[in-house]
Amino acid sequence: MERSVEKRNPYLVEYERQCRLRRPQKTEERRSRMRAEARARRRRRIRRQRLLLSAGILCILLTAVLFLADGGSVFATNAGKLQNNSDGGILPAFSGNTIQGLPEKVYAAHPDWEENFLTPNEYSRPGDPLEEVRDIFVHYTANAGTSAAQNRSYFEQQKDVQEHSVSAHFIIGYNGEIIQCVPLDEIAYAVKTRNQDSVSIECCYLDADGAFTQETYDSLIELLAWLTEAYGLDTDHILRHYDCGGKKCPLYYTEHEDAWERLKEDVADRLGTDKTFL
Ligand SMILES: [Zn+2]
Repeated sequence: MERSVEKRNPYLVEYERQCRLRRPQKTEERRSRMRAEARARRRRRIRRQRLLLSAGILCILLTAVLFLADGGSVFATNAGKLQNNSDGGILPAFSGNTIQGLPEKVYAAHPDWEENFLTPNEYSRPGDPLEEVRDIFVHYTANAGTSAAQNRSYFEQQKDVQEHSVSAHFIIGYNGEIIQCVPLDEIAYAVKTRNQDSVSIECCYLDADGAFTQETYDSLIELLAWLTEAYGLDTDHILRHYDCGGKKCPLYYTEHEDAWERLKEDVADRLGTDKTFL
């Protein structure tokens, strides 16, 4: 036995002895490292769960705050959205019926018009909902001397002739009469990229330069004043078709910037009088 030990390489013998001594220590180190990692994993898992829980609670609270801030109507009606319009005035709180997406009382204050809706059809009255109104566009008919009724017929005919997708919510005749062609809670086809969030008004005219008659102008001011107030917009949200795409429409007001500015001032003056709508 002694002889066989002596025969062995002393360095190897020492190495093996060290290994035997270290092994239990290494195993212990590994175990405690594994335990620490498991603890860290558990802590991370708990932190993740707490974070998710907090985010969930925050979402619920935010939804509740939004719902309460909007008088509970944020999910209910278009008019509810209008009340929340950040661009301008606030409609008085209301509960109850809406007409054409507006509170009954707001709708009832509109200027006189003849309601003569187009027949629903994909060319001039597609029936898609108008869910928000950010701007109001003014147009001219590009056809001097034609009446509001004639222009309404032109829109109506599109269901048969199927030539153009064209319409507007309102047409104002050169005698100042207003015809409503499309309800205010439906889109019209008037400004290609903005049909989804705007109201459009077509104006008839007599003069070749496209200037509106005084009667058309007066009715336009009344209608614009009511619409801006109804939708809580300021007069900067009254736009020419020209302002969206550069089409020369309404012609006179694209060539006479001062006249256009005056028109918006006249709307502001109309809203500034005691005789406001709401
Ligand atoms: Zn136009």
